[in-house]
Amino acid sequence: LINYRQAQELVMAHAHSFGLEQVPLEQAFGRVLAETIYADRNYPPFDRATMDGYALRYEDLAAGLRTYTVVETIFAGAASHQIIGPGECYKIMTGAAVPAAASLVIRREDIEEGPAGDTPGTVSGDKRGPLTMRLRSSLSDPLPAGTLPAPDPAFPWRRYQNMARQGEDLAAGAIVIDTACRCDPAIMGLLATLGKTNLTVQRQPRITLITTGNEVVAAGEPVSPVQIRNSNRWLIEAAIKKAGVELASCSHVPDDPELLRKRITEVLSDDIVILCGGVSAGDADYVPASLEEVGVKRLFHKMAIRPGKPTWCGLTPQGGMVFALPGNPFSCLVNVVLLILPYIQACSGLPPSEPLGFQMGTARKKKTPLDEFFPAALLGSPARLKPLTLNGSGDIRLGLQANALALHPAASGDLKEGDEVLCYSFV
Ligand code: AMP
Ligand code: MG
Repeated sequence: LINYRQAQELVMAHAHSFGLEQVPLEQAFGRVLAETIYADRNYPPFDRATMDGYALRYEDLAAGLRTYTVVETIFAGAASHQIIGPGECYKIMTGAAVPAAASLVIRREDIEEGPAGDTPGTVSGDKRGPLTMRLRSSLSDPLPAGTLPAPDPAFPWRRYQNMARQGEDLAAGAIVIDTACRCDPAIMGLLATLGKTNLTVQRQPRITLITTGNEVVAAGEPVSPVQIRNSNRWLIEAAIKKAGVELASCSHVPDDPELLRKRITEVLSDDIVILCGGVSAGDADYVPASLEEVGVKRLFHKMAIRPGKPTWCGLTPQGGMVFALPGNPFSCLVNVVLLILPYIQACSGLPPSEPLGFQMGTARKKKTPLDEFFPAALLGSPARLKPLTLNGSGDIRLGLQANALALHPAASGDLKEGDEVLCYSFV
């Protein structure tokens, strides 16, 4: 019996891209980027005011000038037409371009403004004379104590204060993204900034799901006292959707080898085929034999885990991956998390998501000599794991509200509070 890490390696060894395609920015969210992204210009594109305030010349401050005449007001998106000289300044808004003549921005909170001739600090609303502004003796945002070099209270300004300099984030032509990554909200914003309205992304795999079982009925259909509803069809689709991929088709087949072979044959050219149920030792578990009969080559059958042990994986003659999962809902979920999602991720060129270590918030008894997976809730700070009630792998509650799939390793005995265990993110 192989362990789940060996099973993952066998599956990952066959990961491959499903090709590339172009999508507009509107459809890029959740897709995996497959092109190098460059900065089309400097970022920021211009010296940008990061505060509402007054832009002036550092040398004037150094020369002791504390009162300035406002020669122009610059709004965001507007170009400046004046060049300031000694004793002059611009009134400037956050996001506006700071003209080259100025070398810092002083926050509005740190000055007193008034019309010419008036006592600064009394804004009279007189629009006739030029505005003036005078620096306050202390800043409203002093540098924190302990800052090095120590701020000089008599001269608290520095060149380019409250300015984001042109190109300080990215220089024009710089590589911005050169590794595969999924377009998340931050990347969507970045791509829009860079003017990337068309993107090369990994093509989505064509994934087919086949659920099996005479007792399994579609949700919404009449259900006899000895039948159950098909939950895994929805569980699997949702897990895959959360990973950014759609199911291309799904169908249900009774426990009939002929019908199984027929349905499998129809989908043999798909990139990924997921079967559910019928892979264990029961008299009606026809899935492994049916797969082999239509030419699917077995990679492995069964892993040393609990739950989820009976899993069968193989390759179609066309190179597609077949995952045949046990039907118990939690077994099914464990397999999706351990095998299917990592395979989809590897195929799109993304690095594997490694499990994270967390401490147990309570003890847990070991039940088998296998690697055991259990649903848990990560709670508190620092986060600790609380195992959730699950009456075996057939418990349809699936650890309701779990946010981690935790591993109780084969090699360890009972877990004590505070023991560290690995967790896979829950889907
Ligand atoms: P099997 O893997 O076919 O032996 O099924 C194991 C258990 O999972 C049985 O109790 C089945 O009724 C149940 N099961 C199988 N398929 C599904 C499904 N699609 N949705 C919910 N339960 C299922
Ligand atoms: Mg079955």
